[in-house]
Amino acid sequence: MRNIILIAPPAAGKGTVAKLLVDKYGYVHISTGDILRDMAKVENEFGKNLASLLQEGKLIPDDIVYEAVEKRLSMPDLSNGYILDGFPRNLEQAIKYDEILKNINRDLGVVIELKTPKEVLEKRITGRYICSDCGATHNTLTGVNTPKVDGVCNECGGKLNQRKDDNYESFQVRYQTYLDKTYPLIDFYQEKGVLSSIDSYQPEDTFKEIEAIIND
Ligand code: ATP
Ligand code: MG
Repeated sequence: MRNIILIAPPAAGKGTVAKLLVDKYGYVHISTGDILRDMAKVENEFGKNLASLLQEGKLIPDDIVYEAVEKRLSMPDLSNGYILDGFPRNLEQAIKYDEILKNINRDLGVVIELKTPKEVLEKRITGRYICSDCGATHNTLTGVNTPKVDGVCNECGGKLNQRKDDNYESFQVRYQTYLDKTYPLIDFYQEKGVLSSIDSYQPEDTFKEIEAIIND
């Protein structure tokens, strides 16, 4: 299967779509956000610095990201294809990723841009609660998977948490960072002839369109 890079503003559905692709096709999901949030749990100066950058919605320095990505891409479970969710996130990272691919002898695959209006993203972010046990996403504002009991997962009964960067202020920083740093990748990959852009307003339709692209 062809590898997939998902490029999208915060809460446009990268994680949701990735999970559907993992379940149906056996892709490996590589979310740099998830990896970095794990790294930020380490109780030392490094972990603390990482946690505060994440909380503010700022990008983590490239060198830290490269180390994490290279480590993950050297693992032996990727032969069935993988989805990159959150990397590359700026032009430097995209150029570095081309280099990494050469070294590990893998193909870029397809790049998919998910497009959703800012107002929708804002609601998804500020109302988002994630189960600390099973990871299921809930939302108190959008009507999609509203928690039946406050703070409790609909799927498994686990405790719902809000990400520290899922608030109005961090969202504004994350969204602007997306426009300034990540959006230029759309042209970069368009020129390589590997880009598809789809509207990701409705998760089910988004998934069907992605299936059409990867099965093409
Ligand atoms: P969502 O998960 O809702 O789609 P998002 O795209 O903002 O939103 P993540 O991809 O989980 O969230 O990233 C969360 C944070 O992790 C970012 O705001 C940034 O601080 C850091 N991060 C993730 N990937 C990278 C990267 N490639 N380079 C630098 N920082 C990154
Ligand atoms: Mg995510």
